[in-house]
Amino acid sequence: MKFFSTGSSRALVDLRTAVLTGMPRDGGLYLPVEIPRLPATWIEERKADTLLEVSRRVAELFFRDDLPPARIADLVGDAINFPAPLVELAPGIRVLELFHGPTLAFKDFGARFMARLMAHLVKDDSRKLNVLVATSGDTGGAVANGFFGVEGINVLVLYPAGKVSKIQEKQIATPGGNITPIRVKGTFDDCQRLVKRALSDPVLAGSVRMTSANSINISRLIPQIFYYVWIFFQLPRRREIKIAVSVPSGNLGNLTAGLMAQKMGLPVIRWMAATNINDSLVRYLNSGRYQPRPSVPTISNAMDVGDPSNFQRILELYGHRHRGIIRDIQGRAYTDGETRQALGELYRSYRYIGDPHGAVAYQGLRDLMNGDPRIEEGIFLETAHPAKFPETVEQVIPERVSLPSRLNRIMNQPIRSVNLSCRFTDFRDLLTSSSLYR
Ligand SMILES: *Cc1c(COP(=O)(O)O)cnc(C)c1O
Repeated sequence: MKFFSTGSSRALVDLRTAVLTGMPRDGGLYLPVEIPRLPATWIEERKADTLLEVSRRVAELFFRDDLPPARIADLVGDAINFPAPLVELAPGIRVLELFHGPTLAFKDFGARFMARLMAHLVKDDSRKLNVLVATSGDTGGAVANGFFGVEGINVLVLYPAGKVSKIQEKQIATPGGNITPIRVKGTFDDCQRLVKRALSDPVLAGSVRMTSANSINISRLIPQIFYYVWIFFQLPRRREIKIAVSVPSGNLGNLTAGLMAQKMGLPVIRWMAATNINDSLVRYLNSGRYQPRPSVPTISNAMDVGDPSNFQRILELYGHRHRGIIRDIQGRAYTDGETRQALGELYRSYRYIGDPHGAVAYQGLRDLMNGDPRIEEGIFLETAHPAKFPETVEQVIPERVSLPSRLNRIMNQPIRSVNLSCRFTDFRDLLTSSSLYR
């Protein structure tokens, strides 16, 4: 499979280059030249019993030119070793639970798959590969977990000091080994800027081999397509169902993967991009003008993104036509107060304990369905386990949310982060001064 850049360059690259460089030099992002179609019989017959089987079949459509089937099956089997159930809350309202992976967030899908694909692609190289990742919360833990112990790869996780939850920081900063946690004095956008600059810095390019693990890496997006297709295999078998999906959105990787699934032939009639008050996409949808703003902290902190990087991919998927985009996607932004109300309503109406991100998506789905009577099945994505946000959730609902026991273990381990200012030269010095990264 070949990839092109959404930037100005016309050159095509292969899978290895797209995955290992992460980002093209022209500042764009990679997308597959051709998005494969789902065979029509899949959707009609819907014969598959497990997420794993669906994932393997989707992965084959993308990787069959580059990897043998047995290798694809290994990668997928190793990465997607947890379920993603579609839970019915009421007739026509369902939640796709994406938090059953090792770090309790949907980012386990992308991070675990990417780690294994990269390890496969560098297995014969002599130089170390440094994977840089900026995180607003959940990406860091998922990437640290996904790459921990992977031969030939170092991971540097940059996160904003004081702006991630305690559990998130533990997940990022306790593994040790080939994972270096970096606590940046600044915001997520500062972390992202440092990573982007490092990747395009000519001095560093000569001495340190680097790539990115943000949702800008195409190998993180593709495995997120798996669970959108899996939604279909879990729905009741009817000839035609009018489906709408609400996605809690930050950097827009999750939404982009959904739109790619739709391009593959998944019959979704409407998308809701539900955000917190970091609403650059929503304002674009409403006005046709994209005006990013610095991010503001909220209780759904993994969506505190002021300038979502995957926006470029969405524009590209629609040929930059605002009309086409708003035909498929509606956007709504919610305050923390509205998010808390949605958490409360989920609990009162369905005894369902959501997390702040899923609650934003739930509210988005309600508003979408109220305005569009065609929708027969509404699905919202629950992207994190509520126990990752106990303070917020327990303020709203009268129950304690407990952490699965496998997470209790890391809560007792020490944080080992490196502190860093948000000046690029300090980050560059760190990268060039240590032999670890060469
Ligand atoms: C990262 C994240 C999001 C936002 O996903 P994007 O792909 O960045 O839009 C939503 N919810 C949770 C829990 C997350 O970790």
